[in-house]
Amino acid sequence: MVMKIQAAVARKGAIVDIETCELSEPAAREVRVRLEACGICHTDLLALGGQLGTKMPAVLGHEGVGRIEALGDGVVDFAVGDRVLMSFGACGCCAACESHDPAYCDAAFALNFAGRRRNGSAPMSLGGRPITSHFFSQSSFATHTLASTQNMVRLPEDLPPELMAPLACGVQTGMSAMLKVLNPQRHSRVAVFGCGTVGLAAVMAAALRECERIVAVDLKPQRTDLARELGATHAVVSDSHSLQEQLLALGPFDAAIDCTGNVPVIEQAFQSLAIRGQLVCAGVTPPGRKLNICPRELVFGGRQLRGTVEGDAHPRTFIPEMIDHYRKGRLPLEKLVRVYPFAEVNQAIADLSSGVTIKPVLKMSH
Ligand SMILES: [Zn+2]
Ligand SMILES: [Zn+2]
Repeated sequence: MVMKIQAAVARKGAIVDIETCELSEPAAREVRVRLEACGICHTDLLALGGQLGTKMPAVLGHEGVGRIEALGDGVVDFAVGDRVLMSFGACGCCAACESHDPAYCDAAFALNFAGRRRNGSAPMSLGGRPITSHFFSQSSFATHTLASTQNMVRLPEDLPPELMAPLACGVQTGMSAMLKVLNPQRHSRVAVFGCGTVGLAAVMAAALRECERIVAVDLKPQRTDLARELGATHAVVSDSHSLQEQLLALGPFDAAIDCTGNVPVIEQAFQSLAIRGQLVCAGVTPPGRKLNICPRELVFGGRQLRGTVEGDAHPRTFIPEMIDHYRKGRLPLEKLVRVYPFAEVNQAIADLSSGVTIKPVLKMSH
């Protein structure tokens, strides 16, 4: 039976309209979720802006929190009534998934960006026509959706949905990139380039490790001020032109993360690495750009340069760890989040694009 839902439908031009759509029955290993909240992430903006090849019309949204209302066949680990957080899509059975690296699932593109289930069907339609949905195996800019249970995590009742939603992607990416990929120690000197959700989450993670030096870099002083509140020991407000000098004064760095995707920034971040320093790239660069770095500095300094998807996180273990930090008062997520009613989705998108809001979270009312 098809159900009528309200969903934020994106069309060309980066504006969405809340429209009545149809939601089909849950397929095998899917559940129907009534949404409470969904964060907006830069990947939603990339999809809206056409940079991911997303076919329009589309229902985006990939940081959903809600309650399970119905189960598809074969769902054994969740029940109707469970409150859940939905992370990214993964198959659960390829070599990467089996080694707890679902971010590098063989089917990652199909399950997160293809806009259809793997069998070609679409969970959502508009006026009887299938539309791009199943985004990150969820499409959570809606009152209800169908989601895969693969990277779903049960959420205790007392946790606020608007603060938990960003754990599904943005906060998870920054924290896991810092803790799991870079793994700095107390004596480490750390640099974070770009202070949006991912960068600020990386700052919070470095602060959890009590790193001796945590340098936050951004164009906007409001953002580096917030980074200082979250544990950064130094702030650099700069564009790529005057960055090098300031980095020289504060570096070199044992661990650095780029969350800007800006090529000159990545190059300077690499140049600021200490001997055996690591730079991990988490920001998405437009296609076709090239890095200009000196391979001798990689070799003779034993340096490392690598990228990460979702901070290499394994959501089912990492999200509960983040929740534990939050409960102990070590993750002030409320400093990143601003709540918008679902109806104000366009304002929320505009505020994320302009940088006025670090992490907009939509709240659905039922
Ligand atoms: Zn897989
Ligand atoms: Zn995301």
